[in-house]
This record gives sequence, C-alpha cells and structure tokens, in this order.
Amino acid sequence: MGKYTLAIHGGAGTITRTMLTQEVENDYKNALNLALIAGNDILKKGGIAADAVEAAVKVMEDSPLFNAGKGAVYSSEGTHEMECSIMCGKTLQAGAVAGIKLIKNPIALARKVLYDENFVYISGEGAEKYAQKYKLEFVENSYFDTPHRYEQWQAVKDTDLVLLDHDADNLVNDGKGGDYKFGTAGAVAMDSYGNLAAATSTGGLTNKKFGRLGDSSMIGGGTYANNKTCAISCTGYGEYFIRSVVAHDISCLMEYKGLSLKQACEYVVKDKLVKIGGEGGLCAVDSLGNIELCFNSEGMYRGQISSDDMKFHVAIYES
Ligand code: ASP
Repeated sequence: MGKYTLAIHGGAGTITRTMLTQEVENDYKNALNLALIAGNDILKKGGIAADAVEAAVKVMEDSPLFNAGKGAVYSSEGTHEMECSIMCGKTLQAGAVAGIKLIKNPIALARKVLYDENFVYISGEGAEKYAQKYKLEFVENSYFDTPHRYEQWQAVKDTDLVLLDHDADNLVNDGKGGDYKFGTAGAVAMDSYGNLAAATSTGGLTNKKFGRLGDSSMIGGGTYANNKTCAISCTGYGEYFIRSVVAHDISCLMEYKGLSLKQACEYVVKDKLVKIGGEGGLCAVDSLGNIELCFNSEGMYRGQISSDDMKFHVAIYES
C-alpha cells in the first residue's frame, strides 16, 4: 500500500499557554487525537481521502470544543448557522453548504453535494430539504448550544461587534473568567492512491449578522484540493481569506510558479495575509504527502499522522 497522510486543524487565533489550563489543553489534545484516529482508520484500510477528511471533521463537529456542529457559535439572532465544504483533488468535484441550522453533521451534507452533478453550493432551507433525501440526521437548533458559546455571545450581543471565536474568548476571559478556546474544524489528506481531499466546517463568527458567510464553505477561499498541487483547509477571519482566495492562491503558486507547499503556504499566510491584517492559518498536504501546518496567529489546534511513522502528533501553541 502506498504512503498516506492526514492533517487537521481545530481553529487558529490568540491561543497562548497562559490561557489554557492543563485540563483544557488535554481535552483539546484528546479531541484532536480522536479526529486523527477516525481519519487514519479509513486511510490505513485503503480508504479514500474524501472519506478520511469527512470522518475527521465529523468527530470535531460532534465535539463541543470546536466551532463546528455541536459547539458552533451564536449568530446575532441567538441561533447557530453553520457552513462547510469538501473537495476531491482527483476529480475536482466539490460540495458546499451554508446557513445550516438543523443538520447534526453539516459536513455529511456537503459530502452528498460533492457527488451531485447538479450543483456545488446550496444553502438554507433548500439545503435542509435536500438533506432529507439522504436521511441525514436532523436535530433541533438548540442541540448545538453550549454554555461557553452562549457567554461569548452575551458579551457582544446587541453590539455591532462580530468576533472570531478566539477573540470572543478573550473578551469572555477578561470579563467572566472563561477558559475555553474553540475553533473551526478542518482536515486534509492524501490517500494511499495519491489522491488528495480537503474539508472545512464552521459555525462562523460570534454575533454574525445578515446571513454572513465565511471562507469555510467557499471553494478556493477556505477549502481547495487538486491532485496536481495540494489540499488546503483554512481557519481565521473569513473576510480576509475570501478576499485573498487563500486556498486556491496556494495551489496556483505551486502550479504556475513552481513553489513548494511550504514556500507557498508561508508566502500566503505569513506575508500576503499579514499585510492585509488577515489572522489565521491552515493545514495543507501536497501530492507527495508533505504536510504544512502554517499560521500567523499565536496558536492553532492542529494534528497530523502519516503512514511513514504512524505516530499521532498534536499541538496547540507556536512552539
Ligand atoms: N473562517 C471562519 C469564518 O470566517 C472562522 C474560523 O475559522 O474560526 O467563518
């Protein structure tokens, strides 16, 4: 069987050692490990990259620790509106969904769209109607509630502030002593056949208004996969990632300018994004299975596993 690799993130932002208790840090590391195990279980049996990234993201959607699925942030209406996307690097098929309120695992719906020839991106009630066709699990919107997310929202409710979850946590830390950090969930993989895939799922920004959408559901913005180059899943302030078309830009730098994955990721994340004030990061894998976990913020929940050493590596802080 050929080499395979899997990398994940659980959000990037102002995450420092002093902000996490040992217990919370361990909770995150355990959750990241579980996501890696889910993806690895598929890849080690010769499963495909799209299945592995879906499985890894699903684990993070089910965990209240991440801003995706259970634990998604609150919008200005006090509801949860989720979005996500998935892309297959071999076929360039993609599936994206947005404005999801009632589907337990939004990434499972995006996965159905991936194989649908009629469209790539669907939203709101229409998307949920489409989900019925596949008998995906429906839940009440309150299923996604978590006390800490509620606190984050209370700190900015009735203001015009919209916050990246980590910033919202700083606000809660300052005002109310909350200790938890949360984040968007993403995964990239190269399977043993050399095919790439990427998936990203989020609740978006705390207190978001007017049906605001981020990069996580935008193919080319927060998610992209192409066997010729790389698979990318981003996290951070979506507006900057959309304007910079980050995931596709990295692929283009590799395809048209011959940059390595590392060079392309570092240029986009640590130079281009920084110059316009875009905070965040990404997980990436290239067609040789090289992994990059690149961010310009203080931390990023992240992990990786490769068939080379079969060791689960997880990390949170910069060093
Ligand atoms: N990129 C996401 C958004 O803008 C947020 C995040 O990554 O935490 O919706």
